[in-house]
Amino acid sequence: MRLAKRIEALPPYLFVDITKKIAERKARGEDVVSFAIGDPDIPTPPHIIERLSQAARDPANHRYPESEGLPQLRHAIAEWYKQRFGVTLDPDKEVLPLIGSKEGIGHIALCLVNAGDLALVPDPGYPVYSIGTMFAGGETYPLPLTEENDFLPDLDQVPPQVAQRAKLLWINYPNNPTAAVAGVDFFANVIDFARKYDLAVCHDTPYTEVAFDGYRPISLMEVPGGKEVGVEFHSFSKSYNMTGWRIGMAVGNAHMINALMRVKSNLDSGIPQAIQYAAIEALRGPQDCIGEHNAIYQRRRDLMVKVLGEIGLKIRPPQASLYLWVKIPPSFSSTEFAAKLLDEAGVVVTPGIGYGRYGEGYIRLSLTIPDDRLEEGIARLRTWYNNVKLT
Ligand SMILES: *Cc1c(COP(=O)(O)O)cnc(C)c1O
Repeated sequence: MRLAKRIEALPPYLFVDITKKIAERKARGEDVVSFAIGDPDIPTPPHIIERLSQAARDPANHRYPESEGLPQLRHAIAEWYKQRFGVTLDPDKEVLPLIGSKEGIGHIALCLVNAGDLALVPDPGYPVYSIGTMFAGGETYPLPLTEENDFLPDLDQVPPQVAQRAKLLWINYPNNPTAAVAGVDFFANVIDFARKYDLAVCHDTPYTEVAFDGYRPISLMEVPGGKEVGVEFHSFSKSYNMTGWRIGMAVGNAHMINALMRVKSNLDSGIPQAIQYAAIEALRGPQDCIGEHNAIYQRRRDLMVKVLGEIGLKIRPPQASLYLWVKIPPSFSSTEFAAKLLDEAGVVVTPGIGYGRYGEGYIRLSLTIPDDRLEEGIARLRTWYNNVKLT
């Protein structure tokens, strides 16, 4: 059997060593505290689960769903965008429910990228942007996200001949993994750039509702021209702790939404309807859960920022997302540092290199860790630092 080249071209799994080490520790009966997983530990709010189980019992929801999603869901998404961002969307043409936003993020390249075309992709970044491009036969041009530029891509640095070959520009704010946020000026810049080079913008934005200290992230769609140049991927996963149910949405440019719908209608048969009803409940039901969850994450953020400062890893508290992006001493690679923390402290973090070359020099810690494990992790980091010291 000969597998396709695109399978061979998939990047090697970067965390083999760490995964092996975790398994070895567990086999010895030692436990690890993991800050590596970006998956909310708090359950889906009960009113959403209630609606889901009700809908699961209705035989009307036992049959194939429509590819384009329930009209009620598309309407609920449009209403939510209206009240949250002041953006008007046509629920029939500018909204498309997805089987989790990752699904649409992976498939959109099939709508835009021909063999040999370029996609501009943030580095460090969520790996699906470049893998989706590669599956469509395209190539990725990395846009470095550096601390000096507040982890925003510097579009002036993209050579014009590269920008001309590019069909697609990926952005993601609030950002994973750097936790950076972007304001209206940045989005306006992106829109100008997209118009100048006639390229499509895909904004991946699952963290608009995960924000702290009163900060309110904005949508590309609320900036003039946003809908003309691109689409935005949003998700129920991080807003409502629904990662396990797999539901998200794409909104924005009608041509792009229509193309994505056509790709999807040839590949999948929609989202289980009971889950769509749960999503409608999430958007239309009480929203107190969002503030409650953010208060929990904010408390965890503050505890972690404090202990990291104590052990010589000072960071500015992030305003949004579920992550801390932490610069490590230059004498270590991010993989070495992660291995050191695991060996010496029994604490797991994600090495920045896993998100791209420009992620080197950083580690990512996630706030989706139950409070008691977080306390344990903090205790371990303090003991470790007192005994080992950073060199
Ligand atoms: C979590 C996450 C997603 C995926 O969300 P789903 O809707 O669960 O597929 C997409 N992009 C980024 C940057 C994420 O962190």
